[in-house]
Amino acid sequence: MSREPRTRVLVPADPALPRAVPAGTEAVVVGGGIAGVSAAVVLAERGAAVTLLEAAPTLGGRLGGWPHTLPDGTEQVVEHGFHAFFRHYHTWRALLRRIDPELGFLRPVGGYPVISREWPPEDLTGLPGTAPFNLIALFARSPSLGLRDLLRSRQLVAAELLAYDRIRTTARYDEVPAARFLASLGMSDRAQAMLFEAFARSFFAHPGALSAAELIAMFHYYFLGNPHGIGFDAPTTDHRTAIWQPFAQYLERHGAQVRTATPARAIAPADGHRWRVELDHGALLTRHLVLATEPPALRALLAASPQAAAVRRGSPPGPPPSRSPRRSPSPGCGSTATSPPTAPRSAR
Ligand SMILES: Cc1cc2nc3c(=O)[nH]c(=O)nc-3n(C[C@H](O)[C@H](O)[C@H](O)COP(=O)(O)OP(=O)(O)OC[C@H]3O[C@@H](n4cnc5c(N)ncnc54)[C@H](O)[C@@H]3O)c2cc1C
Repeated sequence: MSREPRTRVLVPADPALPRAVPAGTEAVVVGGGIAGVSAAVVLAERGAAVTLLEAAPTLGGRLGGWPHTLPDGTEQVVEHGFHAFFRHYHTWRALLRRIDPELGFLRPVGGYPVISREWPPEDLTGLPGTAPFNLIALFARSPSLGLRDLLRSRQLVAAELLAYDRIRTTARYDEVPAARFLASLGMSDRAQAMLFEAFARSFFAHPGALSAAELIAMFHYYFLGNPHGIGFDAPTTDHRTAIWQPFAQYLERHGAQVRTATPARAIAPADGHRWRVELDHGALLTRHLVLATEPPALRALLAASPQAAAVRRGSPPGPPPSRSPRRSPSPGCGSTATSPPTAPRSAR
């Protein structure tokens, strides 16, 4: 549940702008998970000289796969766990098509079972793709819900779920705990455990910490507003082989440098509207910096980067006065602003 207002700026694509960046444009991307590799791919395709920094020895972050030697000496790729590649993840799929235009490394996964120690399993697959038929079919088919639940729900659950609107729903329900919302609808313990709790846990959210707005949004995004139903695929082989090695090769073909086992330790504004990225051995100077780490790592990086954190909070940007008396505009951080003067340089 969000307690503080979040600032969101939506920048629509301007088709009149050139697709390629000016010659000499460079960028450093910190973090080699899905977010960082996506940024690196798009920037490299548009002609930027990209340096991708990943702290771990392998790319992929939470979707990563890394080699592990078993006691018998054989090598096995290890991963964090099963990942579903949902069919409505259009942006992610468009990115994956760069390494496999036919997405031939994905195969459909037949079922979406929700299992429980207490209740019989449910399966959410095979429901119609269009609202409200998918909602009606869910209530009609699910052993933990019934059409009577849908009809008698005191707060018109169907109306709220069907009328999802990001701004209106958030304003109205972000302060309402999801559990209270569901309880007020008269949902049984079984329905709450099998549907709501399983849903929350699959997003690593404690059910008690989820707001009704987040629940409705998830329900809309994965289910009611998703013409593919809850359909997904999974790779035919491990993520390192299927995804990260091909992406590393793709990036290198586009002139990017992929540097694994290279954590960014701190960042600071530097002369010439650039950022200085501190590494264990040396530093990089870059006009454009994308920070694509997971949130705790981002907090740690900013804690080690007081000057960068000060820029973020709106104090005068640029290098500290002891190093340069000039004020300069803030370098582009997490953006793809243009007109860089140099390629990323080692600053030793
Ligand atoms: C067990 C599990 C199951 C999941 N199942 C699904 C699923 O079924 N479907 C689905 O869509 N999603 C699933 N997810 C979520 C999905 O994996 C994540 O949303 C996604 O991988 C996050 O990508 P990211 O790039 O934002 O972050 P991350 O993958 O966390 O990448 C951040 C990267 O930044 C690197 N980094 C951090 N600090 C630094 C630094 N200072 N310098 C350089 N690099 C740094 C990290 O090493 C990491 O590689 C699952 C996640 C887990 C853990």
